[in-house]
Amino acid sequence: MAGIYIHIPFCRQKCTYCDFASFPKELGRQESYFACLYREIKGRGEQLKGRVFDTVYFGGGTPSAVEPQYIAGAMKQIGNCFAVAPDAEITLEVNPGTIDEKKYAIYKKAGINRYSIGLQTGFDGELRRLNRIHTAKDFLLACSLLKGERKSADILIGLHDQTEEQLLKTIDLALAGEVEHVSMYALTPEVGTPIYTDYLNGELPDGDEIADLYDAGRRYLSEKGFHRYEVSNFAKEGCESRHNANYWKRGEYIGLGVSASSFIDERRFTNAFTLDEYMNAVILNKFPEISSEQIDNEGAKFEMIMLALRTEKGLCVAEFNVRTGGDFFKDYAAALASQKNYLDISPEFVRIKEEYMYVQNQIISAFMEKSDNF
Ligand code: SF4
Repeated sequence: MAGIYIHIPFCRQKCTYCDFASFPKELGRQESYFACLYREIKGRGEQLKGRVFDTVYFGGGTPSAVEPQYIAGAMKQIGNCFAVAPDAEITLEVNPGTIDEKKYAIYKKAGINRYSIGLQTGFDGELRRLNRIHTAKDFLLACSLLKGERKSADILIGLHDQTEEQLLKTIDLALAGEVEHVSMYALTPEVGTPIYTDYLNGELPDGDEIADLYDAGRRYLSEKGFHRYEVSNFAKEGCESRHNANYWKRGEYIGLGVSASSFIDERRFTNAFTLDEYMNAVILNKFPEISSEQIDNEGAKFEMIMLALRTEKGLCVAEFNVRTGGDFFKDYAAALASQKNYLDISPEFVRIKEEYMYVQNQIISAFMEKSDNF
């Protein structure tokens, strides 16, 4: 299993919490950006001949903010240059303020079969405060336009003075849109973003409050039939995102476009973060990579543990031993002993107990420290 990620670095305006590679002032450069993207797709396709890809994911930025013909063009180029499985999951991130019937018809024809919709919150005042371009009603309109399609909603916890009641109402709104998948992320106030000032002013919930909100959201989603298959991701049975599941299985993926990351042949590499740097490299027939790291076997072991422990299923011990040549119970005996109160341990699987899933970082870091000793 392998995935293709395509980054579309354009948005109508910048949200106050955003530190992604998205450039609202550069919307006019779509044509030249996609010309470069198509060229990069061709180059990587030649390099990765022989691999079959079974997911494609258009993220951003806001893929639905650009002319839909460019998305269709990217899909065509991917079909020409990569071996894509006939039943591939093909996801497009959508901002509710930027989708209409005409765009949807083009996406459908291009093969998009799953939509990830950025709701964030069901409260218009907070949406305005975050500088989002849409309302709660726009979310419902987008969902009704996409009726019958596979849909996911992104929602945020840790917003200004957010209460449990507000979070549950936001979840209700997402469910009213008939999504079968919800991603619930904690807002991270990054230095340099406008919301960081609000954080310094104490206007955002603290860590304990966020943990309580998360727990309330998790329980409510569970009551509504959404099981948590990864710390931030909830789905009805059988509706999990295959693209994201591949990341957590430490599967390979190729990232195309500005700032996209890749993992191929045990090498992690990342593309340039600015439009100019990215496009200049591609025009010179170079891959626009700016960093690269070959992962050794010890690194691979830790990555596999870290990624698997984020998931509900946990780490499959036999798979770990086969893929890394290690002996999990022996190599990580010390970490397993120190963290045993937080883990469910069986001969086949090791997973974090449900109630500790949200505070997993300290548990996972024990495996990093100990793995260095073997
Ligand atoms: S829509 Fe997403 S990528 Fe664009 S500015 Fe807002 S948070 Fe950033």
